[in-house]
Amino acid sequence: MTFKDFELDEKLLEAISFMGYEKPTPIQELVIPEIMRGRDLIASAQTGTGKTAAFMLPILHKLTGREAREVNTLVIVPTRELALQIDQQINGFAYFQGVTSISLYGGGGSIDWEQEKRALTGGADIIVATPGKLIAHLNLGYVRFETIEHLVLDEADRMLDIGFYDDIMKIVSFLPKKRQTLMFSATIPPKIREMAGKILTNPATFTSALTKPPEAVLQGAYLVFEAQKTPLINSLIADKPLCKSILIFTSTKSKVGQIVRSLKGKGYYVEGISSDLEQREREEVLLRFRSKQTRVLVATDVMSRGIDIKDIDLVINFDAPHDAEDYVHRVGRTARAEASGIALTLVNPVDMEKFNRIEKLIGQIIYKIPLPREIGEGPHWELRAKKPDSRFSKKKNDR
Ligand code: AMP
Repeated sequence: MTFKDFELDEKLLEAISFMGYEKPTPIQELVIPEIMRGRDLIASAQTGTGKTAAFMLPILHKLTGREAREVNTLVIVPTRELALQIDQQINGFAYFQGVTSISLYGGGGSIDWEQEKRALTGGADIIVATPGKLIAHLNLGYVRFETIEHLVLDEADRMLDIGFYDDIMKIVSFLPKKRQTLMFSATIPPKIREMAGKILTNPATFTSALTKPPEAVLQGAYLVFEAQKTPLINSLIADKPLCKSILIFTSTKSKVGQIVRSLKGKGYYVEGISSDLEQREREEVLLRFRSKQTRVLVATDVMSRGIDIKDIDLVINFDAPHDAEDYVHRVGRTARAEASGIALTLVNPVDMEKFNRIEKLIGQIIYKIPLPREIGEGPHWELRAKKPDSRFSKKKNDR
């Protein structure tokens, strides 16, 4: 299948080829025709599957040749990073079309506010916004959303995790009832189904097949007491001098600070990223990590989604992720493009059940690595019938 088969506008096809896309990804093959037909949609899809193009290309196709300067499409996202990424992609796709878009997110100054107000009152075809910032504008009464024909909710599960349920429902109450609504979510927990039931009409459903970590990733887990986690991380990093890019995920902002301080104390180039940082600071942190000036990046779960960082040698889950899809998603950050990578998860006794559930869902028992001697004895792990992954015993370039 090629992009031509979707009968997209010529200018869009030109932009797609300019961006180097040769053929549609699986989600694009399935979802683009449904959106072209005008159907509502709920799709479980992760970042990295090409989901942005999957929803944006058919919407842009429908905007072809449009003269009116009024808001047509609203994309709601959980974070500023994702708002910026989507806005940038729209700029690429719409390069030859002249469709306009703007991203709205918290943290801007008053000049941004005036520009945003103009966009919301009819200056831009597409608005990409985080809920909080949009609500701030809506509360002032000048926003006109009667002209909206498409609503996209991206990373819906993440938005609910952050606590945006009420904000989203409030935003939806400002939109015309007759519209096309597209909902994308990495996972579809009951709360997402409930929201989908309220805001989608007879949706097509799409589930991505991403349920297993890539084969090339060497996965392991340590059973530790919470107090052993930080010393263990120090020891793991000291033991892997060849790992140039290390990503550590943790559940809270305070733990980000704690891990960063500890690793800095050991002399590593390490930075943390959480919603505490200003937008500009976050972008700078990501840039330094991508360019390998920073060796270790410590991120909260909330920041972990939607940021497209490749070529990571080692992923460490400081806490066991909440669900299997999160686990697969994080582990998939390493071992991209045929390279092998390592993913290690630190599991305390409280999280053991949760980790067992993840293993069940991915259909794999992950090898429990004995703790290094200097960390001391950990909690007792139920011995399970699984031989250690032989790759652990090989000294593979010290990785
Ligand atoms: P997304 O899942 O939307 O975050 O997209 C992940 C990455 O894949 C982005 O860098 C896109 O530019 C890229 N991408 C999306 N669709 C295609 C495609 N059909 N061919 C090649 N790259 C793509």
